[in-house]
Amino acid sequence: MPDLDIAIAGAGPGGLMTALRLHQQGLRPVIYEAVPELRPLGVGIDVKVYATRELDELGLLEEFRTISVDARESLFFSRHGQEIYAELCGVHMGYLYEQRFVHRGYFQMFLYDKVIERLGADVVVPGTRVLRYDQDDAGVTLTLRHADGTTSEARHDVFIAADGIKSAARRQMHPESADPTYSGITMWRGTTLMKPFKTGGTILHIGDPRRSSMIVYPLLDNFEGTGLTLVNWVVEATREESVEDWNQRGTVDEILPYYDECEIPFLDVRQMLRDAREVYLFPLIRHEPLDSWCDGRVTLLGDAAHAMYPRGGNGACQALVDGRVIAEKLATIDDPVAALRAYEDERREAVNRIVMSHRGEGYEVIRRMVAERTNGERFDDIEQVLPLAEADEIFSRYHRLVGQPRPGWEDGQATGFRS
Ligand SMILES: Cc1cc2nc3c(=O)[nH]c(=O)nc-3n(C[C@H](O)[C@H](O)[C@H](O)COP(=O)(O)OP(=O)(O)OC[C@H]3O[C@@H](n4cnc5c(N)ncnc54)[C@H](O)[C@@H]3O)c2cc1C
Repeated sequence: MPDLDIAIAGAGPGGLMTALRLHQQGLRPVIYEAVPELRPLGVGIDVKVYATRELDELGLLEEFRTISVDARESLFFSRHGQEIYAELCGVHMGYLYEQRFVHRGYFQMFLYDKVIERLGADVVVPGTRVLRYDQDDAGVTLTLRHADGTTSEARHDVFIAADGIKSAARRQMHPESADPTYSGITMWRGTTLMKPFKTGGTILHIGDPRRSSMIVYPLLDNFEGTGLTLVNWVVEATREESVEDWNQRGTVDEILPYYDECEIPFLDVRQMLRDAREVYLFPLIRHEPLDSWCDGRVTLLGDAAHAMYPRGGNGACQALVDGRVIAEKLATIDDPVAALRAYEDERREAVNRIVMSHRGEGYEVIRRMVAERTNGERFDDIEQVLPLAEADEIFSRYHRLVGQPRPGWEDGQATGFRS
């Protein structure tokens, strides 16, 4: 196996999982992280079956269960709260692996602890931002800025930039596509502490996407010993002004009116919004898919390579897959430049297809179809508006696209239902 000195920028889920995968392959990278101290920021992440498998392969699934919730079913409603479609999730649908919901910050801290445990405390260098890279035939030189404002240089064999949606490395590699455009849609993301609803593992997709969409799912049961569940919700609506980062606060006043007529039998959505513990604004940013991720000994990974609309919940999950593939290639291909190229070849086109699919709403499109076919009004018989077989086809195609074909679909089994 090549003896490589590998640097990673970013201790987000992508960078941390890559470090764990490299370690599994017998390599020990260093991670430069811009923030001086990692804190559990963000709200929910929907961890798909192919991503829990990644955790299982690292021996982390059992412990991950203690900080996450088993996803049991996924229900779709019109803006009036009428049910459109339902499917089971994860093992409940027949997959080998579970789908789970987790707080992004807790997930990141969980992975961080595992990296420290397995690779040692000095493997993460906090308060160190990678400003730029330069390379020659023998290696890569990184320019680092430290928390005290000083800069220094570090030399490595390979540089993996997992530095997120505002990646400095992507800006350097692809200056022409570095500046994303605001889509005109903002997400209000929040959490509410409340009694568990429905199965305790139910994800809801609500609304007429032409006006506003809402996704709701539980993140953690018995939150801090309260006996209550921490519930994650995300509301999309148009907003003229964009916002800058993950930490900008908002209020629910602008979004409540969209749900005035929404009556879900087992959940008061307006009360849930009003009871929010905190609300963050996040713009839907349009990054164009990249036509290359590699520049010699340097490559992009996770959001830096394929920032996507956080719809359908695949951004973080795809970063976990990136980590496995890049570690396999670096461990088995002697020439690091060829190894990075092989990683890109395996991943880029497949992930770009997901990026583009999320622009078009992915499977959430069924709510738009129902809204258009009913002119936004209530329906009497959903089968007359959206036949189950038509919805099943859309879901099955989507699941195949993201790398988790529905069990039984190839044999013609319909797996969606209406409760
Ligand atoms: C603060 C925050 C909150 C988020 N909240 C949510 C959420 O609520 N729901 C959701 O679905 N997704 C959220 N995300 C995005 C989600 O975590 C990512 O889509 C996904 O995890 C991909 O992971 P990543 O490791 O590629 O990037 P990220 O998770 O963005 O991690 C990138 C890391 O790189 C560090 N970094 C940035 N620039 C540099 C640099 N130049 N040098 C060194 N380090 C650098 C950042 O501090 C960060 O720790 C959030 C991301 C962040 C940073």
